[in-house]
Amino acid sequence: MGILKLIREIGKVTIRERSVNKSLDPCDDFYQFVCDGWKKKYPVPKDQLNYNQMYVLNDQLNEAIRDVLTHKNKSLGREFQLMYTYFDKCVEYQEDPGDDGLKDLFKKLRRYHSPSIKTLTDFLIASFPTQTFFKFSIDLDPENSTVKVFAISPHSSTLSFDQYFNEDIASSRDLYNAMISQTLTMLAEESENKDELFSKDTAARMLRAYTIVDMNLAKIINDSDGIKGENMQLEDISLKFKAIDWIKYLNAALSKSGWNYVKTKGILIEGPLLIKKYEDFISELDENVLRDYLDVRTVIAAMNDLPKKYQDLYEKLMEQYYGVVTLDKQKACFENIKEIFPDLLSVVYVDKYFNKSSIDDIAKLVNVIRNTMIEMLDEEGWMNFFTREKAKLKAENIAEIIAYDPQMYNETKRKEKYQNLTFTDSTSYYVINNIVEIWTLNMEIEDVSTPFGRGTVEFNAVEVNAFYQPQTNMIILLAGILHPPFFNASLPTILNYASMGLIVGHELTHAFDDTGSKFDEVGNMVNWWDTRTEEDFVNKTKCFEQQYGNITVVDGKRIRINGHDTLGENIADNGGVKLTIRAMQKVLDESKFHIVGLEEFTIEQLFFMVYGFSWCGNVKEEGLVQQVTTDVHSPDKQVLITFLLIL
Ligand SMILES: [Zn+2]
Repeated sequence: MGILKLIREIGKVTIRERSVNKSLDPCDDFYQFVCDGWKKKYPVPKDQLNYNQMYVLNDQLNEAIRDVLTHKNKSLGREFQLMYTYFDKCVEYQEDPGDDGLKDLFKKLRRYHSPSIKTLTDFLIASFPTQTFFKFSIDLDPENSTVKVFAISPHSSTLSFDQYFNEDIASSRDLYNAMISQTLTMLAEESENKDELFSKDTAARMLRAYTIVDMNLAKIINDSDGIKGENMQLEDISLKFKAIDWIKYLNAALSKSGWNYVKTKGILIEGPLLIKKYEDFISELDENVLRDYLDVRTVIAAMNDLPKKYQDLYEKLMEQYYGVVTLDKQKACFENIKEIFPDLLSVVYVDKYFNKSSIDDIAKLVNVIRNTMIEMLDEEGWMNFFTREKAKLKAENIAEIIAYDPQMYNETKRKEKYQNLTFTDSTSYYVINNIVEIWTLNMEIEDVSTPFGRGTVEFNAVEVNAFYQPQTNMIILLAGILHPPFFNASLPTILNYASMGLIVGHELTHAFDDTGSKFDEVGNMVNWWDTRTEEDFVNKTKCFEQQYGNITVVDGKRIRINGHDTLGENIADNGGVKLTIRAMQKVLDESKFHIVGLEEFTIEQLFFMVYGFSWCGNVKEEGLVQQVTTDVHSPDKQVLITFLLIL
């Protein structure tokens, strides 16, 4: 729905969508006032915990993806045909995964129990590319965002500290434990005939061992204060973290991928303190407990690939604990395709479903809002002069990617990228995924020596999302979100301020939130703040942290917003509103603005109503629990009403 149509519909509440309920007092509950009709019309579907305008748009996007993947274009190159084949195999697999995954799981477990596996290092090598306790990634050097580094970081526990220790949100823990415990029991039943590894007694013992270890990892993470990177040489890592033979591990796991230590310019250890605590904890563990834990982690990693009866079990448990059923199995395939073939999916989607001529309109909108931001920085009297000038420089340098990365149309680059990925429609889906996993890792490792920067990053345009990337100082507005109710090119630009404009304002403000403020105008992690201004900034953020941290989202339960984790988003929401409303006032000629049926509202009131409307949503209690424990965004309702209190 376009904004104009939307405003009209808000106006015609008694006739059409009845979203605004004028019988309610907006000062009492603004969210309900704006969203009452929407909330009644769109209850949470059976396969979701949460449903809002983003989900509605996402459902439309999924239909578009289904369309471009089903209606194959045979005239496109080899790489596109690979994507189509992958999709067909995936859809088949969702219906019936067969028993490849089960066979492979038993084979792996037998291998891990062979006499040649004596130490934790041996196990880590044997289980690679599955990574337990620690994970490898290619990250950016925080001090120089043009250089990519090979990074080792601690793997988090499977469940979080809150999930283990807050009884009010115990349902997610209970669901997970039920899934693992019943999987182990079923595996024990299957293996009684074929395998010596499991019996019903060992299944119970394994679950106990797993829970003890995982719960302790969650505690260690909870007690430690964040992850800070430290660049180290391989030799130093081995001296500092002794429970694992790192050189042996890295060489054995990565040499086949062409990993070359010299090319990687040191290794970034993310969270060295945490890694040390992990190591200390692991080396104290009883050998049998560790063995059981590793076995269960192996089983968890294989759960998605187990035969149909296991998948049916998980669905039943999801329904029992969360009241959620899977309605559309193809969705899982869409997600895989987005990850493996982001550029190819973007090409076929953008060509058919995105109006490229709207890019200029959005660029204009971004420009007005960015200029307003620079102007407003001048008014921030609490900032010291030099810091303020640096902040303005940073704002001036924020670049934007609108809709998609033009490089996706570079055919030579595309062909080169996919030339080493090979499978056919007679390869099993399970094997295809193993091939893809190794291909991805090899590609990342090969890519480590290429400098990083604007123009070298790949984006999947087929996503209902917009974000700020501190390492390039860019905002990215993906094609998937540039649709109604967030954007409609055919309407006067002005009407897009209260929806897309606010998203732009939000993303621009991320450049100065608790994380963004640590990066400079080219994206390096450099402290450009003078000490006193920085102190003032931190004090101001404390106020946000407290205010949001005190909000209870379910009456009578200890389920609160995490003021610390959501800080960046809350800053962006509040800054974004202040910024965008000012930008809108600059371009708007109020005397010419008239909407039939909504004469009683001022432009500012309409601005908030349209904004509120684009965040209408329904959520189940389990969804709220999941959101406040795992999401850095505050729930929709709080996003809307909390800043109204602050303004
Ligand atoms: Zn955000």
